Amino acid sequence: MYEFAVTPAVTQLRRPGVIITGVEPDGLAAELGLCPDDRIVKVNGRQVRDYLDFRFQTAGETELTFRVKKPDGETIDIEFDRDEGEDLGLDFEQIVPRQCANECLFCFCKGNPADARPSLFVRDEDIRLSFLYGNYTTLTSVTDDEMKRIVEQRLTPQYVSVHATDLATRARLLGVSEERADISLKLKHLLDNDIEIHAQVVLCPGINDGPVLEKTLTDLSSLHPKVISTAIVPVALTRYNNDERLTHVTPEFCRSTIKQVEKMQKNFRRDLGTTFAFLGDEIYLKAGLDVPGRRHYGNYPQIEDGVGMIRSFLNAFENLLAGVAREGQKREAIGLARQYFRNVRTHPDARVPEPPAGVISATRRIKSRSGSILTGEMFAPILSEQIGRYNEAARRNYKVVAVPNTYFGGDVAVAGLLTGQDYLGVMDEIEGEVVIIPQHTIKSDEPILLDGMSFEELRSKFPVPVVPLDTQGLIDHLAASAA
Ligand code: SF4
Repeated sequence: MYEFAVTPAVTQLRRPGVIITGVEPDGLAAELGLCPDDRIVKVNGRQVRDYLDFRFQTAGETELTFRVKKPDGETIDIEFDRDEGEDLGLDFEQIVPRQCANECLFCFCKGNPADARPSLFVRDEDIRLSFLYGNYTTLTSVTDDEMKRIVEQRLTPQYVSVHATDLATRARLLGVSEERADISLKLKHLLDNDIEIHAQVVLCPGINDGPVLEKTLTDLSSLHPKVISTAIVPVALTRYNNDERLTHVTPEFCRSTIKQVEKMQKNFRRDLGTTFAFLGDEIYLKAGLDVPGRRHYGNYPQIEDGVGMIRSFLNAFENLLAGVAREGQKREAIGLARQYFRNVRTHPDARVPEPPAGVISATRRIKSRSGSILTGEMFAPILSEQIGRYNEAARRNYKVVAVPNTYFGGDVAVAGLLTGQDYLGVMDEIEGEVVIIPQHTIKSDEPILLDGMSFEELRSKFPVPVVPLDTQGLIDHLAASAA
């Protein structure tokens, strides 16, 4: 069923060095004669394994020597000086993710249809991606060399899927032996070396909820402030994941989890000065309750895991509406919304990827006064209410279309897992000058959707332009539309 076998992280072999994929025409690297497809294998005599090594070894250096392998096999050394902080003007290949050696009960790979795009079957477990993009790892497959690297290169914070501190439960969830599941020494080593951790619990009813969850949060909170925060997100089962050991998350389950965790959050705020354990937005939505207010989330430490997204969106939307309401101050609306997002602390290197080139050229600078905003069924009622207020204030005509996820099915109702087929399924409901879809449903480095449909194909099926936007992009679009 899987495109990739479960491969221990240590077995992945590739040529050393980091490959250049782009050179800014007027930049320093172009002046030095560096070209796309050149491979930088050493910096100042030290081996380069990948982009992170390159970054680590060039950081703060003004006198540099690159050993470069040209595509024709020639090796050259380039010695040069640069000003402090001067950018080289280089783009590099993406890091090839290492893969896990787990068999998690709830692994998303088991929930994919067989024809989903190949990247959905990659079981990434990579401390580099954890540092760069906030991807979670279980630390079970991490090697001694990787542990050393985290500390040496200060790859902090790391994002760790703990799931349960009860060892038997963790082993059961990960599908590995207790010996392998036990990361207590690794965690201690990282924390002793001042590597900070954001933890995650994928909550599976009947397995790591109730007293197990209480123990997990108590244990992790005892490691605060080095364990900065914990996200608790509900397991999502598609119609392809029929493992009998897993139970669907129900509204009742969400309500009782909120009740249980709220008590602990209160104590954490009193004792630690932070909510510390943050429930995923879906838990509140499924429970039929409002998401907590701004102060609950502090500096939004788990926003990259989707925790607090709705609150930050709602607050930014309020700023947008305030700007729209003030005659002649439409520009300020954009500024306020942008400023709000800038103030939300994110991982230093995390970024919302730009849409791929084909998408950018197709959609940039499209201005409209009406349109259809497509989103998942879970977020649609909230967005619909906000868009109604916007339409009234700005005298525009946008509508929100709740798109059922027929591709993955099951519990999946989030916007991020919508596919090309799902969008086409609501074609009859489209109105207005544009169709806006969530940007992250398109692969970050290639214009294709989760079901393998190309963006070009999707675009060709709609009678109006299709614009992929993230939440900030949507707010910017609406602000510009109101101006
Ligand atoms: S959920 Fe993550 S860690 Fe678990 S098997 Fe899947 S990819 Fe590996």
